[in-house]
Amino acid sequence: MMNNVMNTLAVKQLLLAEGWVENRLIEWDSAGNISALGPIPAGYDGPEAGTVVAGMPNIHSHAFQRLSAGLTEYRYAEDDSFWSWRQLMYAFASKITPEQLEEIATHLYREMLWAGYTSVCEFNYLHNDEFGRPYMEPDSFFTALIRAAKRAGIGLTLLPVFYQRSGFGAETVNDGQRRFATTLDEYMQLWASLQARAQTEGIGLGVAPHSLRAVSESDLQQLIARVKAISPEAPVHIHISEQIREVEDCLEATGCRPFELLQRTCAVDQSWCLVHGTHFDKNELAAVAEIQAVVAICPTTEANLGDGIFDWLEFASHGGRWGIGSDSNTLIDSREELMLLEYSQRLLRRKRNIVCDSKQAHVGTHLYQEALKGGSQVSGIKVGRIEEGYRADLLELDGELFEGLSKSGDFILGNHIFADSHKTSIVGVWSAGKRVASPATEARPKLPKALQALRNQYLEN
Ligand SMILES: [Zn+2]
Repeated sequence: MMNNVMNTLAVKQLLLAEGWVENRLIEWDSAGNISALGPIPAGYDGPEAGTVVAGMPNIHSHAFQRLSAGLTEYRYAEDDSFWSWRQLMYAFASKITPEQLEEIATHLYREMLWAGYTSVCEFNYLHNDEFGRPYMEPDSFFTALIRAAKRAGIGLTLLPVFYQRSGFGAETVNDGQRRFATTLDEYMQLWASLQARAQTEGIGLGVAPHSLRAVSESDLQQLIARVKAISPEAPVHIHISEQIREVEDCLEATGCRPFELLQRTCAVDQSWCLVHGTHFDKNELAAVAEIQAVVAICPTTEANLGDGIFDWLEFASHGGRWGIGSDSNTLIDSREELMLLEYSQRLLRRKRNIVCDSKQAHVGTHLYQEALKGGSQVSGIKVGRIEEGYRADLLELDGELFEGLSKSGDFILGNHIFADSHKTSIVGVWSAGKRVASPATEARPKLPKALQALRNQYLEN
């Protein structure tokens, strides 16, 4: 009985995939997966909540980049861009140890939970030691990420990255990329060992060719074929069309735009997550929407790096699917990503209330629901939906402002995303049924002193 009471939550208004419902009891099992969703029985005296939504899946993160957040905001090249930023980022990547990554990621994942993300797809391309040699245990960085996710209590999908060359036509990586490179056979060995661990540790596993510029067409084909032969459902995540130069290089080297090249090379389907797609043209957007692949939009990173603005309106006109990622981890807040997605479209089109449709006029609710749907599709674990079999990843939102208003859910969510930036409306965060944060009453996790010391060390050198 006691155990039952601990694994339940009675909710006044609950946002499901099909919309708001009232007075439901959510129950979950000892593994933290939802086991039942039904009416609240008479005489129930267990835990209660007012307004509850699903926790947000973060579908694109490079944990180590949190270390340099805020440290690259000064002019260091004549014509600063993504490419000059990348040089600084490589300098940080060149020295990090697996032990340091575990500390950085543990802190980052605690911040994510505080800010409403309950699972994360970790796109990790750190493989080798600082000299570019494989570690004795080639999964050292992945072990660090698994430990960090456990310590923080966040859902994890590992996306080990295959990185082979420095650009279209290159044979190998450059010196700044020495920690990222593996052979295809080494990669497949790593993947098989992670697959065994994923099953026992309850984490997701996907495959991540870094980008079209970093992997040749023939190796991309082989990589996907080999992984899909072992695990047909494995999600495939790839950076694509983030920068105009990348599109131009692709055209010059292959005569194709990036998504054309990808489709020519692989059978792209719903298991694919296309990260950025910022410079997809109209044909590419229509083609991506048609096959129902998911685009990972990372608005704060795309703004920070000067990538450009994703053409959401064109994509949505074809019914395209998308989710959100914190990517470079400069800012950690699911609502800021959603707000900036909407605001970038408003600035571009000089209109209001864009990311919504004829079925859902409330922008906050539409943004939230669509990001959950896309996140659920490509996370490789059961997240992003409040229904039986899915992780009990839940956020309770503060509805006090709207007390007395019936059917207040859309206004509470809209207020949370657009009008609450100096505090948080998140009262409680449950990850796999465990209450892991109470943001409204506890401060955002502070950067541990040891990590600030590490940041200072980088700045000195
Ligand atoms: Zn990325």
